[in-house]
Amino acid sequence: MQNFLEYPCPNCSAELNFDPIVKDLKCNHCNSVIPIEKKLETIKEKDISGFLSTLVNPRKDIEIILYACSKCGKENEIKENTPSFECINCGNNVVNSTAFQLQPINPSGLIPFSISKNEIQALFQNWVNKGFWTSDDFRKISVLDNLRGIYVPFWTFDAQTETQWSGQAGEYYYKTETYTDSEGNSKEEKVQHTRWHYRSGHYSKFFNDILICGSDEISHSEVSKIFPFNLDELVPFDYKYLTGWESDTYSPEIKKCYDLSKSIINEKIYRECGNLCKIDTYTDLSLVTAFENESYKHILLPVWICTYVYKNKKYNFSINGQNGKIDGNKPISSTKVGLVILLVVVLLVAILFLL
Ligand SMILES: [Zn+2]
Ligand SMILES: [Zn+2]
Repeated sequence: MQNFLEYPCPNCSAELNFDPIVKDLKCNHCNSVIPIEKKLETIKEKDISGFLSTLVNPRKDIEIILYACSKCGKENEIKENTPSFECINCGNNVVNSTAFQLQPINPSGLIPFSISKNEIQALFQNWVNKGFWTSDDFRKISVLDNLRGIYVPFWTFDAQTETQWSGQAGEYYYKTETYTDSEGNSKEEKVQHTRWHYRSGHYSKFFNDILICGSDEISHSEVSKIFPFNLDELVPFDYKYLTGWESDTYSPEIKKCYDLSKSIINEKIYRECGNLCKIDTYTDLSLVTAFENESYKHILLPVWICTYVYKNKKYNFSINGQNGKIDGNKPISSTKVGLVILLVVVLLVAILFLL
C-alpha cells in the first residue's frame, strides 16, 4: 500500500510548498500561508541497541512504484525509497511516506530550510568574489539552474566514555656539550635531552551529538565542511516540511556511520589523554576506553547542493541550508597563475643580475 501525501491550498487548491522564509506551507499561486502545526513532543535519543540490531537486518531490494498524478493524471514511475518528488509532467509536489516506513529506523526530527533559492545566488556570488585565483568570467555565472535543496539523512551519536590511560611523559633538559668544528676549533653548544616519566590516569567524558552523514548522495567528509548545524533548532519530524523539496533516505551502510562516530570520539580522547600525559612531550600512550549509555538519533538536515560544468570540468559546492555556510571548489584562472609565475621569474632574474 503506497502512501502519497499532497498538500493542496485550501483557498485555490494549487499545491502548497514548505517555504524557508515564512517557515510554513505557502501557496505559490495565491500566496496563502498555512501554518504547520508545531508538535510538542521532544526529540528523544534512542538506545544504541535499536540501531545495532538493524545492522543485521539489511533493507530489501528497491522496487519501482507508480504514482498517477492527482493534478494531470500522468503516471510517474518512482523508486519506492524516494521520499519526495515532482510529477514529470506538471511539477506537482508529492511526498512518498512509504520511503521512510520501509526503513527500520524513521527520522525523529529535522531542521527546516531557512535559506531560500533566491538567497543562494547572493551567497554564491559573495563566495566566488573572495578568492584571488578565481577566474574572472567564472564570477559572472549563475548557478540557480543546477541547485538542489535536499533534506540529507544524518545520525547523531551520544556516549559516556571512561578511559584508563598510561604513557611516557617527556621532560626536556639541556646540557652544554663541546664539539670540534670543521676548522679544528673546540666549540660549545646547548643540546636538548628528554627525561622520561611513566604516567597514568583516568579520563571521563560525555560526547553529545557526534554528527555523521548517512547519505549516498553526499559524503561525510564533503558535508562536514559546512558544519556546524545548530541542533537546538531541530523540530519533530513532519512530512509537511518535505513538500517542494528533495529528500533522501539513509544509506544501508549504517555500520560505517557508527564506526566513524567511534573513531571521531577515540581521536578526541587520544588528544585529550595526550595533553594529560605530557610534560613537554609524550610517547607510548596507550588507552582502554569503555563506552557507556550509548544512544542515537536519526534526523534530516537541510543542504543545498550544486554541481555545474565550467569549461568542460565539473565543479560542485554545497551550502548549509540552516545558516548559509558554503564550501566547494572553484576554477582557478590560468592567466593569473601565468602572470604570477612570470612576475616571480622576472624578480629572480633581477635579483641575480644585481648580485
Ligand atoms: Zn492558493
Ligand atoms: Zn502531474
